[in-house]
Amino acid sequence: MPDPVAIGIDIGGTKLVAATIAADGRVLDRQRRETPAHDTGLLLDTLRTSIRQLAGERGDLPVGIGIAGLVSPDGVIRYGPNIGVRDVAIARELADTTAGPIAVVNDASAATLGEQRVGAARGHCDVVMITLGTGVGGGVVVDGHLLLGANGFAAETGHIIVKEGGRRCPCGNRGCIEAYASGTSIGRIAAERAPDHPGETVLRGLDAPTGKDVSQAALGGDPLAQTVLTEAGTWLGVAAASLVNLLDPEVVLIGGGAALATSRWVVPAASEALQQRMIGAEWRKAPAIELAALGDDAGMVGAALLAADRAQRGAGENEGSLA
Ligand SMILES: [Zn+2]
Repeated sequence: MPDPVAIGIDIGGTKLVAATIAADGRVLDRQRRETPAHDTGLLLDTLRTSIRQLAGERGDLPVGIGIAGLVSPDGVIRYGPNIGVRDVAIARELADTTAGPIAVVNDASAATLGEQRVGAARGHCDVVMITLGTGVGGGVVVDGHLLLGANGFAAETGHIIVKEGGRRCPCGNRGCIEAYASGTSIGRIAAERAPDHPGETVLRGLDAPTGKDVSQAALGGDPLAQTVLTEAGTWLGVAAASLVNLLDPEVVLIGGGAALATSRWVVPAASEALQQRMIGAEWRKAPAIELAALGDDAGMVGAALLAADRAQRGAGENEGSLA
Protein backbone atom coordinates (compact mmCIF):
# COMPACT_ATOMS: atom_id res chain seq x y z
CA MET A 1 0.00 0.00 0.00
CA PRO A 2 1.43 3.45 -0.89
CA ASP A 3 2.09 6.04 1.81
CA PRO A 4 -0.64 8.59 2.47
CA VAL A 5 0.09 12.19 1.42
CA ALA A 6 -2.86 13.66 3.31
CA ILE A 7 -6.12 13.03 5.11
CA GLY A 8 -9.25 13.99 3.17
CA ILE A 9 -12.57 14.66 4.87
CA ASP A 10 -15.97 15.23 3.29
CA ILE A 11 -18.54 16.73 5.67
CA GLY A 12 -21.94 16.00 4.18
CA GLY A 13 -25.37 16.85 5.55
CA THR A 14 -25.86 13.33 6.95
CA LYS A 15 -22.50 11.56 6.81
CA LEU A 16 -18.91 12.48 7.43
CA VAL A 17 -16.35 10.46 5.49
CA ALA A 18 -12.63 10.66 6.22
CA ALA A 19 -9.72 8.77 4.68
CA THR A 20 -6.01 8.73 4.12
CA ILE A 21 -5.25 9.48 0.47
CA ALA A 22 -2.26 8.50 -1.66
CA ALA A 23 -0.53 10.88 -4.08
CA ASP A 24 -2.35 9.24 -7.01
CA GLY A 25 -5.73 9.85 -5.34
CA ARG A 26 -6.19 6.30 -4.09
CA VAL A 27 -8.31 6.01 -0.96
CA LEU A 28 -6.31 4.02 1.58
CA ASP A 29 -8.02 3.85 4.96
CA ARG A 30 -11.61 5.02 5.17
CA GLN A 31 -13.90 5.92 8.07
CA ARG A 32 -17.55 6.82 7.95
CA ARG A 33 -19.52 8.53 10.71
CA GLU A 34 -22.77 10.37 11.09
CA THR A 35 -22.42 14.14 10.74
CA PRO A 36 -23.31 15.78 14.04
CA ALA A 37 -25.36 18.57 12.48
CA HIS A 38 -26.30 21.73 14.41
CA ASP A 39 -23.69 20.97 17.10
CA THR A 40 -20.40 22.72 16.42
CA GLY A 41 -18.63 21.30 19.48
CA LEU A 42 -19.53 17.73 18.62
CA LEU A 43 -18.61 18.29 14.96
CA LEU A 44 -15.14 19.50 15.96
CA ASP A 45 -14.70 16.57 18.37
CA THR A 46 -15.70 14.14 15.62
CA LEU A 47 -13.19 15.71 13.24
CA ARG A 48 -10.43 15.56 15.87
CA THR A 49 -11.12 11.86 16.51
CA SER A 50 -11.11 11.05 12.77
CA ILE A 51 -7.87 12.90 12.14
CA ARG A 52 -6.05 11.36 15.12
CA GLN A 53 -7.19 7.83 14.30
CA LEU A 54 -6.24 8.09 10.64
CA ALA A 55 -2.93 9.86 11.24
CA GLY A 56 -1.72 7.25 13.75
CA GLU A 57 1.98 7.89 14.30
CA ARG A 58 2.07 10.59 11.65
CA GLY A 59 1.64 13.86 13.48
CA ASP A 60 2.26 16.01 10.41
CA LEU A 61 -0.14 14.73 7.76
CA PRO A 62 -1.85 17.59 5.88
CA VAL A 63 -5.64 17.63 6.28
CA GLY A 64 -8.08 18.70 3.58
CA ILE A 65 -11.74 19.26 4.45
CA GLY A 66 -14.55 19.72 1.93
CA ILE A 67 -17.85 21.09 3.19
CA ALA A 68 -21.05 22.28 1.54
CA GLY A 69 -21.29 26.01 2.08
CA LEU A 70 -19.35 29.23 2.00
CA VAL A 71 -15.75 28.81 3.14
CA SER A 72 -13.27 31.66 3.42
CA PRO A 73 -9.65 31.10 2.35
CA ASP A 74 -8.36 31.14 5.94
CA GLY A 75 -10.33 27.99 6.74
CA VAL A 76 -13.44 29.51 8.30
CA ILE A 77 -16.81 27.99 7.43
CA ARG A 78 -18.86 31.14 7.11
CA TYR A 79 -22.14 29.41 6.40
CA GLY A 80 -22.90 25.71 6.07
CA PRO A 81 -26.69 25.43 5.91
CA ASN A 82 -26.83 21.62 5.55
CA ILE A 83 -24.72 21.09 8.65
CA GLY A 84 -26.15 24.02 10.54
CA VAL A 85 -22.89 25.89 11.20
CA ARG A 86 -21.95 29.55 10.96
CA ASP A 87 -18.57 31.26 11.34
CA VAL A 88 -16.57 28.30 12.63
CA ALA A 89 -12.79 28.68 12.32
CA ILE A 90 -12.30 25.01 11.51
CA ALA A 91 -8.64 25.20 10.48
CA ARG A 92 -7.70 27.05 13.67
CA GLU A 93 -9.83 24.81 15.91
CA LEU A 94 -8.18 21.67 14.51
CA ALA A 95 -4.62 23.04 14.47
CA ASP A 96 -3.70 20.89 17.50
CA THR A 97 -4.41 17.67 15.59
CA THR A 98 -1.58 17.96 13.05
CA ALA A 99 1.63 19.85 12.39
CA GLY A 100 0.71 19.89 8.70
CA PRO A 101 -1.48 22.44 6.91
CA ILE A 102 -5.27 22.23 7.14
CA ALA A 103 -7.13 23.23 3.97
CA VAL A 104 -10.87 23.86 4.22
CA VAL A 105 -12.73 24.34 0.97
CA ASN A 106 -16.21 24.21 -0.52
CA ASP A 107 -17.06 20.59 -1.31
CA ALA A 108 -17.87 21.11 -4.99
CA SER A 109 -14.65 23.06 -5.52
CA ALA A 110 -12.75 20.25 -3.80
CA ALA A 111 -14.49 17.72 -6.06
CA THR A 112 -13.50 19.71 -9.14
CA LEU A 113 -9.84 19.66 -8.11
CA GLY A 114 -10.10 15.92 -7.43
CA GLU A 115 -11.54 15.28 -10.90
CA GLN A 116 -8.90 17.51 -12.52
CA ARG A 117 -6.02 15.78 -10.75
CA VAL A 118 -6.99 12.13 -10.76
CA GLY A 119 -10.49 11.81 -12.26
CA ALA A 120 -12.40 12.50 -15.46
CA ALA A 121 -10.47 15.69 -16.30
CA ARG A 122 -7.01 14.30 -15.59
CA GLY A 123 -4.50 15.87 -17.94
CA HIS A 124 -6.53 19.05 -18.43
CA CYS A 125 -5.48 22.37 -16.89
CA ASP A 126 -8.71 24.33 -17.44
CA VAL A 127 -11.79 22.64 -16.10
CA VAL A 128 -15.31 23.68 -15.15
CA MET A 129 -17.58 21.38 -13.18
CA ILE A 130 -21.28 21.66 -12.44
CA THR A 131 -22.61 19.33 -9.75
CA LEU A 132 -26.23 18.22 -9.76
CA GLY A 133 -27.79 17.08 -6.53
CA THR A 134 -30.41 18.42 -4.16
CA GLY A 135 -28.91 21.78 -5.18
CA VAL A 136 -26.49 22.79 -7.92
CA GLY A 137 -22.83 23.54 -7.18
CA GLY A 138 -19.60 23.56 -9.03
CA GLY A 139 -15.97 24.45 -9.26
CA VAL A 140 -13.39 25.93 -11.58
CA VAL A 141 -9.75 25.04 -12.16
CA VAL A 142 -7.80 27.64 -14.16
CA ASP A 143 -4.32 26.80 -15.41
CA GLY A 144 -4.13 23.98 -12.86
CA HIS A 145 -5.13 26.22 -9.92
CA LEU A 146 -8.36 25.87 -8.02
CA LEU A 147 -10.21 29.18 -8.34
CA LEU A 148 -11.21 30.37 -4.84
CA GLY A 149 -11.83 34.08 -5.38
CA ALA A 150 -11.21 37.03 -3.07
CA ASN A 151 -13.48 35.69 -0.32
CA GLY A 152 -13.34 32.00 -1.17
CA PHE A 153 -16.82 32.14 -2.66
CA ALA A 154 -15.89 31.70 -6.34
CA ALA A 155 -17.50 29.18 -8.69
CA GLU A 156 -21.01 29.14 -7.21
CA THR A 157 -22.15 27.92 -10.59
CA GLY A 158 -25.59 26.99 -9.24
CA HIS A 159 -26.45 30.67 -8.89
CA ILE A 160 -25.63 31.78 -12.40
CA ILE A 161 -28.81 33.55 -13.43
CA VAL A 162 -30.14 32.09 -16.65
CA LYS A 163 -33.52 33.85 -16.59
CA GLU A 164 -34.00 37.27 -15.01
CA GLY A 165 -37.22 37.22 -13.00
CA GLY A 166 -37.48 33.45 -13.44
CA ARG A 167 -38.18 30.71 -10.90
CA ARG A 168 -37.40 31.36 -7.24
CA CYS A 169 -34.10 29.92 -6.01
CA PRO A 170 -33.43 28.89 -2.38
CA CYS A 171 -30.69 31.59 -2.31
CA GLY A 172 -33.40 34.27 -2.52
CA ASN A 173 -32.77 35.30 -6.12
CA ARG A 174 -34.83 34.38 -9.12
CA GLY A 175 -33.81 32.55 -12.26
CA CYS A 176 -30.65 30.82 -10.99
CA ILE A 177 -29.72 27.58 -12.75
CA GLU A 178 -30.36 25.82 -9.42
CA ALA A 179 -34.03 26.79 -9.74
CA TYR A 180 -34.21 24.82 -13.03
CA ALA A 181 -31.78 21.93 -12.73
CA SER A 182 -31.44 20.86 -9.09
CA GLY A 183 -33.12 17.64 -7.99
CA THR A 184 -35.55 19.66 -5.90
CA SER A 185 -36.43 21.95 -8.82
CA ILE A 186 -36.82 19.10 -11.29
CA GLY A 187 -39.27 17.42 -8.90
CA ARG A 188 -41.25 20.64 -8.51
CA ILE A 189 -41.36 21.36 -12.22
CA ALA A 190 -42.57 17.82 -12.91
CA ALA A 191 -45.29 18.22 -10.25
CA GLU A 192 -46.46 21.49 -11.85
CA ARG A 193 -46.61 19.97 -15.32
CA ALA A 194 -48.14 16.60 -14.49
CA PRO A 195 -51.82 17.67 -14.12
CA ASP A 196 -51.94 19.27 -17.59
CA HIS A 197 -49.78 16.72 -19.38
CA PRO A 198 -51.84 15.40 -22.32
CA GLY A 199 -50.53 11.82 -22.23
CA GLU A 200 -49.94 9.21 -19.57
CA THR A 201 -47.34 9.93 -16.91
CA VAL A 202 -46.49 8.13 -13.69
CA LEU A 203 -45.64 11.52 -12.19
CA ARG A 204 -49.34 12.43 -11.95
CA GLY A 205 -49.82 9.77 -9.28
CA LEU A 206 -47.03 11.11 -7.05
CA ASP A 207 -47.77 13.60 -4.31
CA ALA A 208 -44.47 15.49 -4.27
CA PRO A 209 -42.09 13.92 -6.78
CA THR A 210 -38.37 14.27 -6.11
CA GLY A 211 -35.64 14.61 -8.70
CA LYS A 212 -34.94 10.91 -8.16
CA ASP A 213 -38.58 10.05 -8.94
CA VAL A 214 -38.31 12.02 -12.17
CA SER A 215 -35.09 10.32 -13.26
CA GLN A 216 -36.52 6.90 -12.42
CA ALA A 217 -39.65 7.71 -14.43
CA ALA A 218 -37.49 8.89 -17.34
CA LEU A 219 -35.50 5.66 -17.26
CA GLY A 220 -38.81 3.80 -17.32
CA GLY A 221 -39.79 5.61 -20.54
CA ASP A 222 -42.06 8.32 -19.11
CA PRO A 223 -42.27 11.10 -21.74
CA LEU A 224 -43.03 13.96 -19.31
CA ALA A 225 -40.09 12.99 -17.10
CA GLN A 226 -37.84 12.85 -20.15
CA THR A 227 -39.05 16.27 -21.29
CA VAL A 228 -38.43 17.83 -17.87
CA LEU A 229 -34.87 16.43 -17.79
CA THR A 230 -34.18 17.55 -21.36
CA GLU A 231 -35.30 21.08 -20.47
CA ALA A 232 -33.08 21.04 -17.38
CA GLY A 233 -30.23 20.05 -19.70
CA THR A 234 -30.96 23.00 -21.96
CA TRP A 235 -30.84 25.40 -19.00
CA LEU A 236 -27.55 23.82 -17.93
CA GLY A 237 -26.19 24.38 -21.43
CA VAL A 238 -27.20 28.05 -21.20
CA ALA A 239 -25.26 28.36 -17.93
CA ALA A 240 -22.35 26.37 -19.39
CA ALA A 241 -22.17 28.79 -22.33
CA SER A 242 -21.57 31.70 -19.95
CA LEU A 243 -18.92 29.68 -18.14
CA VAL A 244 -17.24 28.69 -21.42
CA ASN A 245 -17.34 32.25 -22.73
CA LEU A 246 -15.75 33.45 -19.50
CA LEU A 247 -13.18 30.71 -18.85
CA ASP A 248 -12.59 28.80 -22.12
CA PRO A 249 -12.17 25.41 -20.40
CA GLU A 250 -10.99 22.22 -22.10
CA VAL A 251 -13.83 20.22 -20.61
CA VAL A 252 -17.09 20.81 -18.73
CA LEU A 253 -17.80 18.09 -16.19
CA ILE A 254 -21.20 17.22 -14.86
CA GLY A 255 -20.94 15.62 -11.43
CA GLY A 256 -23.00 15.07 -8.31
CA GLY A 257 -25.41 12.39 -7.22
CA ALA A 258 -27.97 13.01 -9.96
CA ALA A 259 -25.57 13.19 -12.91
CA LEU A 260 -25.37 9.56 -13.94
CA ALA A 261 -29.08 8.74 -13.86
CA THR A 262 -30.08 11.83 -15.85
CA SER A 263 -27.17 12.11 -18.26
CA ARG A 264 -28.93 10.48 -21.22
CA TRP A 265 -31.28 13.48 -21.42
CA VAL A 266 -29.28 16.23 -19.74
CA VAL A 267 -25.95 15.95 -21.56
CA PRO A 268 -27.14 16.05 -25.21
CA ALA A 269 -29.50 18.97 -24.48
CA ALA A 270 -26.78 20.85 -22.60
CA SER A 271 -24.26 20.24 -25.40
CA GLU A 272 -26.65 21.60 -28.02
CA ALA A 273 -27.50 24.70 -25.99
CA LEU A 274 -23.82 25.32 -25.31
CA GLN A 275 -22.88 24.96 -28.98
CA GLN A 276 -25.55 27.50 -29.99
CA ARG A 277 -24.45 30.12 -27.47
CA MET A 278 -20.69 29.72 -27.36
CA ILE A 279 -18.72 32.57 -28.83
CA GLY A 280 -16.05 31.75 -31.43
CA ALA A 281 -17.65 28.46 -32.45
CA GLU A 282 -16.14 28.85 -35.93
CA TRP A 283 -12.63 28.76 -34.50
CA ARG A 284 -12.81 26.33 -31.65
CA LYS A 285 -14.47 23.10 -30.78
CA ALA A 286 -16.99 23.35 -27.98
CA PRO A 287 -15.55 21.69 -24.88
CA ALA A 288 -17.00 18.25 -24.33
CA ILE A 289 -19.56 17.90 -21.57
CA GLU A 290 -18.50 14.77 -19.73
CA LEU A 291 -19.50 12.91 -16.62
CA ALA A 292 -17.32 13.12 -13.53
CA ALA A 293 -15.59 9.88 -12.58
CA LEU A 294 -14.80 9.85 -8.86
CA GLY A 295 -18.36 9.78 -7.54
CA ASP A 296 -18.83 10.52 -3.85
CA ASP A 297 -15.08 10.40 -3.20
CA ALA A 298 -14.26 13.40 -5.41
CA GLY A 299 -14.53 16.07 -2.70
CA MET A 300 -12.59 14.10 -0.11
CA VAL A 301 -9.80 13.27 -2.58
CA GLY A 302 -9.63 16.82 -3.95
CA ALA A 303 -9.49 18.38 -0.48
CA ALA A 304 -6.68 15.99 0.50
CA LEU A 305 -4.66 16.79 -2.63
CA LEU A 306 -5.14 20.54 -2.03
CA ALA A 307 -3.78 20.13 1.51
CA ALA A 308 -0.87 18.04 0.20
CA ASP A 309 -0.04 20.80 -2.31
CA ARG A 310 0.08 23.34 0.46
CA ALA A 311 2.38 21.14 2.53
CA GLN A 312 4.71 20.64 -0.39
CA ARG A 313 4.92 24.30 -1.23
CA GLY A 314 4.66 25.67 2.26
CA ALA A 315 2.09 27.87 0.55
CA GLY A 316 -0.10 30.53 2.12
CA GLU A 317 -3.61 29.46 2.89
CA ASN A 318 -5.22 31.61 0.27
CA GLU A 319 -3.29 30.00 -2.54
CA GLY A 320 -5.18 27.32 -4.41
CA SER A 321 -3.81 24.24 -6.06
CA LEU A 322 -0.27 24.91 -7.13
CA ALA A 323 0.41 22.17 -9.63
ZN1 LIG B 1 -29.68 31.02 -6.49
